[in-house]
Amino acid sequence: MELSHLTGWLALAIVVGGALFGLGHQMGRALERERSEEEQRRHESGFYLRGLNFLISDEPDRAIEEFIQVVRLNSETVEIYLSLGNLFRARGEVGRAIRIHENIIARPNLPESFRVGALFSLAEDYRQGGFLDRAVEAYRKVLEVDPHHSKSLSALQSLHEDEGRWDRALRALKRLEKASSFRDPRREAHLRVNMGQEALESVDSDGAVDHYRAAIKVYPGCLEAYRQLGEMQLAEGKVKKAIKTFATLKKTRPSHFFLLVDALREAYDRLEDDVGFEKCMRKACRTPSASSRLLLRWAQYLEQRGRLDEAVDALRQGADKHPGSAEIARTLSGLLSRQDNREEAVDVMTHCLDHWTARQHNFQCSRCGFKSHDIYWKCPQCHRWDTMEPL
Ligand SMILES: [Zn+2]
Repeated sequence: MELSHLTGWLALAIVVGGALFGLGHQMGRALERERSEEEQRRHESGFYLRGLNFLISDEPDRAIEEFIQVVRLNSETVEIYLSLGNLFRARGEVGRAIRIHENIIARPNLPESFRVGALFSLAEDYRQGGFLDRAVEAYRKVLEVDPHHSKSLSALQSLHEDEGRWDRALRALKRLEKASSFRDPRREAHLRVNMGQEALESVDSDGAVDHYRAAIKVYPGCLEAYRQLGEMQLAEGKVKKAIKTFATLKKTRPSHFFLLVDALREAYDRLEDDVGFEKCMRKACRTPSASSRLLLRWAQYLEQRGRLDEAVDALRQGADKHPGSAEIARTLSGLLSRQDNREEAVDVMTHCLDHWTARQHNFQCSRCGFKSHDIYWKCPQCHRWDTMEPL
């Protein structure tokens, strides 16, 4: 038997051993009680011992048979039995885990809390085994008994998400939010965006608009909601509305606004309104969190129109703001070369390289991987002496 295998069984044996210890303790007390109870417990401990022996001799199925006998007799051991099933699942033995958990659920007069625990474990078994429909059904049964069972709500939410049933995923998420302090507005927004897309595919544009607006309301930085809403408005010929939708993102999520520039440009083109587009872009480029990508887009727009001086100015500002952007440095340097300003072109590239060199790690600890610019004779992370090697 391999060592890893042995360790796994050892974990199982410890659990069952714990059960035996508890049982022995209970048996001690039982001596003071009625004789029939004592005999019953002795009978149970026989099943346990045989089960434990089968487990140790690598015969899990025979072990399970013995343990099942115990569970039929004693509900106090259900918790330990549940753990045993969970251990089987953790070892990847889903079939055995299912057998144990189903057996617990089938017990008559099982206390409700144990039924919920066993149903949840069974749902987890099904989920791990890839029986997703059965998993959904089992999680639902848990929620029938305990409507605030947050682990089941969370699992259902993510299962529905995986199968692309956005409305169900959203319902589970809302229930989860009610049952706990958990909040995930970005997730909710994206579920609503997908619901909007589905509504649009079913030619329900009013429904789609409602979903997109709800997404924006719950998470004002949800780019995809603005994009889909704006594109829908554009398709319906509501160009000014579309422009307003796209442009709103420059306030609510300026770092990502560059991703809507093409759509915005298309909308302005329909109105043949370059002035409007340029005004909007200038405003966006002035915001402190304007990304290097946005500044590049703007410069490329200017360059395409032969406005090289303006493009160079925009890129100079971009290089000041994002000294580590190789893309800005490369584009600016290229434009400067075209203007025969080779000296500044070289300066721009050198400045960018200086920026990267200053941030580069020169040494790395050969023991723990800690990286630094300067050499340390004693590694600050693993505290070993003289382990830094040059990179
Ligand atoms: Zn180290």
